[in-house]
Amino acid sequence: MSSGGEGQHKTSFEIPDRRVSERVQHFPESVIREMTRLANLHGAINLSQGFPDFDPPQEVVEAAKAALEEGYNQYSTTWGSEAFREAIATSFLRFQGFEVDPDENVVVTCGATEAMMASMLSLMNPGEEVVIFEPFYENYGPDSIMSGAIPRFVPMEWPDFRVEEEGLKEAFGPRTKALILNTPNNPTGKVIPRSDLKLIGDLCEDHDAVCVTDEIYEHIVYDGRRHVSVATLGDMWERTVTISGLSKTFSVTGWRLGYAIAPKTLTAVIRRTHDFLTVGAPHPLQMAGARALEMPDSYFEALREDYTERRELLFSTLQSLGYHCIKPEGAYYIMADITAFGFENDVEFAQHLVKEVGVAVVPGSSFFSHPEEGKFLVRFAFPKRLETLEMAAKRLEKLGSDR
Ligand code: GLN
Repeated sequence: MSSGGEGQHKTSFEIPDRRVSERVQHFPESVIREMTRLANLHGAINLSQGFPDFDPPQEVVEAAKAALEEGYNQYSTTWGSEAFREAIATSFLRFQGFEVDPDENVVVTCGATEAMMASMLSLMNPGEEVVIFEPFYENYGPDSIMSGAIPRFVPMEWPDFRVEEEGLKEAFGPRTKALILNTPNNPTGKVIPRSDLKLIGDLCEDHDAVCVTDEIYEHIVYDGRRHVSVATLGDMWERTVTISGLSKTFSVTGWRLGYAIAPKTLTAVIRRTHDFLTVGAPHPLQMAGARALEMPDSYFEALREDYTERRELLFSTLQSLGYHCIKPEGAYYIMADITAFGFENDVEFAQHLVKEVGVAVVPGSSFFSHPEEGKFLVRFAFPKRLETLEMAAKRLEKLGSDR
């Protein structure tokens, strides 16, 4: 096929078509979700999209069944059932030592994904800038575009993903309205240290910007670390939207239960936006969500221990096979340098891996605004049973490196 000719394949986001809005023409399909489809197509072990291949706690499943039987089958209050909002407030106090009002400071959404989109739509005017650390979870690109915001990327440098103070300061300017933080971080596994949170807080205050913080991996931290919510530091509460959800902590990614915690004035607008986007999250599952958040400390300890085992297994596999990577401090991903394998780029590598080796990963370029910056990286996700990770390790052995 000749390049540039009539028959050239174009992705939908490149087609100028007056039937579709300008705003949706500037971002492609999710590469993460696409890799899951390819994994299913080729019967590959799916280490691409981050979701567990094991079940939620039995008590939580039972609570969902009971809620269906007990009549929670119509809309809840649009911003969340009282029981679930109370459980969210109690859990913020329990884990972050910070008191919030379930009636004034909590909005329940369809996953953290909707919480993020509803927050961005509620905060950003077209042309205002949002600071985003890079590499970044791919949703933040479309979140910015759909809300009209202009992203200002701040590099977290490979391999240890440290944030350079100078780079961060330079990203803030007169049009900065918000910063998106994600700690523990997807895809890097970085837990942003308290000193950096302090710096982020100071810069947000100096520029009167809002910190929108995605803390969905709050309970998946390693080596004795504890997650710190930036909203609890100094005077940050008044300018922070804290987003989290149940997907990762309770292995219920299909339930779509997320939430935003914010000061009253911001909660009021996020509620309104959320109402017109989705009306509400599934009522019976919210009732089960309230039960989940009451799980004893031992549940959260076991979660960390189990994830530590999975991390050790995947990390040692990758190291022994010649991938250059560093151990994640939190979340459940490992970014790995694939240079030793001699492929043209990350996409070719990922395509080969899913088709010929039988393991799906996410090409690193999908986490960068300039794809070439991630072309030597791929992301492995490890929310999987040890047997799954062992099977993946066997398959990965088929691919030789020339180290
Ligand atoms: N956060 C998960 C990932 O990065 C997936 C989330 C999603 O696909 N909605 O893979």
